[in-house]
Amino acid sequence: MIKQNLQQIKETIPENVTLVAVSKTKPVEMIQEAYDCGQRIFGENRAQELASKYEQLPEDIEWHMIGHLQRNKVKYISPFVALIHGVDSYRLLKEINKQARKNARNQPVLLQFHIAQESSKFGFDMNEINDMFNDPDFKNLENIEIQGVMGMATFTSDQRQVREEFHSLKKYFDTLKETHFNADPNFEIISMGMSGDYPIAIEQGSNMIRVGSSIFGERD
Ligand SMILES: *Cc1c(COP(=O)(O)O)cnc(C)c1O
Repeated sequence: MIKQNLQQIKETIPENVTLVAVSKTKPVEMIQEAYDCGQRIFGENRAQELASKYEQLPEDIEWHMIGHLQRNKVKYISPFVALIHGVDSYRLLKEINKQARKNARNQPVLLQFHIAQESSKFGFDMNEINDMFNDPDFKNLENIEIQGVMGMATFTSDQRQVREEFHSLKKYFDTLKETHFNADPNFEIISMGMSGDYPIAIEQGSNMIRVGSSIFGERD
């Protein structure tokens, strides 16, 4: 089942779109199965679960932290995590920088924007981003590398609304790319789209989708 699901998704997405297989709550056996089909990028949303799976599974897996990350949990994943999608505050970014420095690493991250109507979802708005960039200490964060943006659309069947929200994230990306990151070739990732909405996300410019249940089945 996992193999067919992966194949089916890969056949329908453009080549420039990276597939993050979201394996949260799923056992290592299922991740190994996806790995054996060639999948190498996996996403988790809990730091300790991520660290434990990292210990048990092949070393060449690229682990992405996709969920809300608490500052006191950064240390569990900092030694190895390939990309942290959900950076939603300056304080979190500072802690990620601090742990990355301890591990002598340069930590790739994405800035999460709040694009949904739902207040339950996390993320910056553009004013907060600009305040952060203008802070004199910001340039001292030498162990982080901001590689793009991430966002989650409202959980709704209204496709027009989802489309508009993804469009707004693409515009935030374009604005940052033209301004703060205009000389930075590494700023290139737009992480948006999950099982229920990734086709719309890709239509709106996503180049990284985070897909769980359409690969591994529904979660409990
Ligand atoms: C769980 C999760 C996903 C994947 O959701 P599915 O609907 O199972 O594809 C994607 N992104 C984030 C941030 C998640 O927490």
